[in-house]
Amino acid sequence: MHISARFDAGNIEVVDATDPSDVKLRIRDDVGGEHKQWFCFRASGIGEVPCTFHITNAGTCSYPVAWKGYHVAASVDRQTWFRVPTSYEGGTLTFRHTPAADTVWYAYFAPYSQERHHDLVAGCVDAGARHEVLGQTLDGADLDLLTLGEGPVPVWIIARQHPGETMAEWWMEGLLERLLDADDALARALLSKATFYLVPNMNPDGSARGHLRTNAVGANLNREWHAPTMERAPEVKLVRDRMDATGVKLCLDIHGDEELPYVFISGPEGVPSWNEAREAVRLRFEQVYEQVDPDFQRVHGYGRSEPGTANMTMCSNQVAERYDALALTLEMPFKDNANAPDEAHGWSPERSRLLGAAVLLPIATVLAEL
Ligand SMILES: [Zn+2]
Repeated sequence: MHISARFDAGNIEVVDATDPSDVKLRIRDDVGGEHKQWFCFRASGIGEVPCTFHITNAGTCSYPVAWKGYHVAASVDRQTWFRVPTSYEGGTLTFRHTPAADTVWYAYFAPYSQERHHDLVAGCVDAGARHEVLGQTLDGADLDLLTLGEGPVPVWIIARQHPGETMAEWWMEGLLERLLDADDALARALLSKATFYLVPNMNPDGSARGHLRTNAVGANLNREWHAPTMERAPEVKLVRDRMDATGVKLCLDIHGDEELPYVFISGPEGVPSWNEAREAVRLRFEQVYEQVDPDFQRVHGYGRSEPGTANMTMCSNQVAERYDALALTLEMPFKDNANAPDEAHGWSPERSRLLGAAVLLPIATVLAEL
């Protein structure tokens, strides 16, 4: 057997792969040493071989409790990602697989590659989106902004501050495809009322490096919104400066949650300016989202912040207060939607894309009230 992670978003360390029935692996730390959980590797020479993989440092990952009920994403053709059941015991995550094919890819969730990101940007430009490079990251990657529409209401949507949460960019792909569909009357109506500023990948460095949560110098971008600097979090500084120029009325920050098997919104109700009017608009947004895509639900989530206790280093809180905006964090599961489980695929790129496309109606519903 040969195991490799030396590619875009690769992350695994081989401890011992001499016996396919007892392969020992470790997940590499994000830069900074504080986080790890994303993994992505290729195993070759395993056709018809009963393999047992052990990730021996699963218990020291960022969210060890998240391994309970988790199934590994696997693919032969790198298009369809199916799930392989796991067990978690004594700090080790174990999964057994006897693939028909010689070579299989395994990952924490279906990867969203740099090449696919560039295909997405190119396809959007080709379909009429405006493209702007906001600046460079610390590894020298471009931070891409796509702008759509001509309307007076500034809507910002950003994804993948946490680079291992690839479902966020799958979601963004579904949204962009629908917004750019000239035959979609709701999209056309929205683009006449709002201008959409979209950052499909806030953290290209962490994505390429195979990180779960941080950028090239170990910064968790969703804890940098209060006072971002070009030295530590240029991704946030560049976006926030651009937001200062455009203003913001609605902001969606798209994430994945390791532990909860549900899609939900976490709101900025702990910010000083939160009031009943904002609460009503948020509720309307959520109710319409739930109706238009029942994978979204309002029962399970993080619980609400007490008034005045918001962490202002986080995007949704900082943006809500700084621009008097409705700013929401959307979370999708790494595992599955427990209300409508898909045994074969778990939560998937396909469902993420559909959820992204479905956000048009909730946005259209609240736009006039922002
Ligand atoms: Zn996140």
